[in-house]
Amino acid sequence: MNDLFDVLVVGGGIHGVGVAQAAAVRGHRVLLLEQTRLGAGTSSRSSKLVHGGLRYLESGDLRLVRESLAERETLLAIAPDLVTRQAFHIPLYAQSRRQPWQVAAGLALYRLLARAHGEFVRVPRSGWDQLDGLATNGLRAVYRYYDAQTDDLALTRAVAHSAEHYGADIRVGARFLGAERNARGYEVRYALQGTVANCQTRTLVNAAGPWIGQVLGRILPGPPRLPFDLVQGAHIVTPGRLSGGAYYVEAPADRRPVFIMPWRDGVLTGTTETLYAGDPGQVAVLPQEIGYLQEVLAAYFPQRDRTPQAAFAGLRVLPRAEGGLGRRPREVILLADAPDPRLITIIGGKLTGYRLTAARVLARLAAALPERPPQADTRFLPLTPASPAA
Ligand SMILES: Cc1cc2nc3c(=O)[nH]c(=O)nc-3n(C[C@H](O)[C@H](O)[C@H](O)COP(=O)(O)OP(=O)(O)OC[C@H]3O[C@@H](n4cnc5c(N)ncnc54)[C@H](O)[C@@H]3O)c2cc1C
Repeated sequence: MNDLFDVLVVGGGIHGVGVAQAAAVRGHRVLLLEQTRLGAGTSSRSSKLVHGGLRYLESGDLRLVRESLAERETLLAIAPDLVTRQAFHIPLYAQSRRQPWQVAAGLALYRLLARAHGEFVRVPRSGWDQLDGLATNGLRAVYRYYDAQTDDLALTRAVAHSAEHYGADIRVGARFLGAERNARGYEVRYALQGTVANCQTRTLVNAAGPWIGQVLGRILPGPPRLPFDLVQGAHIVTPGRLSGGAYYVEAPADRRPVFIMPWRDGVLTGTTETLYAGDPGQVAVLPQEIGYLQEVLAAYFPQRDRTPQAAFAGLRVLPRAEGGLGRRPREVILLADAPDPRLITIIGGKLTGYRLTAARVLARLAAALPERPPQADTRFLPLTPASPAA
């Protein structure tokens, strides 16, 4: 049978399920194809922060920071069981790249862009001994501000669950094989349980994260492309607890920013930045990444156990540009097949901004979609944890 869908999404990471949810609540007929498991790609391997991205202030991405801060507040309101506010500390030492006044100025701008819950303080010297054993040798100042943390996989599942509730058909173990443009949109082929199925969709959304290049390569006629790199980021989980909150520090080796955060029963430290050229499904933590992260922990929390209990790596999709990896644009790019698009490819983006990205994808596809009575608005739609099997 040749079903007709309004929106067909390839990929069950946070972007794919976000688009499926946004389309379903607008009353559209939605099919999502996920080749392995929901959140199996980058969306379970992030730093698990729902944040404005303090460091993007330095690259002048004020719009990205302002929008991400607004999304942080939206997610805190609609998903209180999944997204929680967290205290973050920035310790500044004699050798730190930034002066205390620079960090204070950055946090003041962050507060201004946040509009709500942007408060920050300079932790008095008398409070330093309550900072989980933070090294105080050469310490000049510590600033505390607030962002939020989540469980990225649980958030992805919750959004998928909500999409299904509004009628989206989410097929796990379904691999996109190819698509061909026709007068009604795209004819799509996919594999499910050893068989190949066909369906027709008015619009197609490529939300395959690090696999977007492979998906684009299977679409006819060949859609426009944008050069991008895959950049690996690793995390380690070590024993112990952080009761004071999270810490935003500089790696001693190269002064890159690294987070040290409470995570379940342990401590999560990340991330690295390593160019990756292999199969996205095979990404794995490198021994030198573990060493680099252990060195960060040793520098700031010398008394702590640095034996990794777990480690994981994810892949960022960063448009190719001049300069170092840390300087690549972090704004999500929506690549269309034509001025009146039927196909959108999501390049890059943040977990934090998934809801806004999904809304923008649908706005770009609006002319190709029928009018349907909307059922809800994702800005106000509560998200609740799905059962592990979901
Ligand atoms: C190290 C690291 C740390 C990060 N930290 C943060 C953070 O703290 N906060 C934040 O906001 N953002 C963070 N990000 C960014 C965020 O994690 C990503 O932007 C987001 O998870 C990307 O989601 P996605 O849905 O685009 O891709 P993915 O989660 O990778 O999903 C793509 C899915 O497509 C599926 N797929 C691929 N090919 C096919 C096919 N042919 N058929 C069917 N399915 C297919 C895959 O199986 C996969 O499940 C981080 C990223 C990295 C790499």
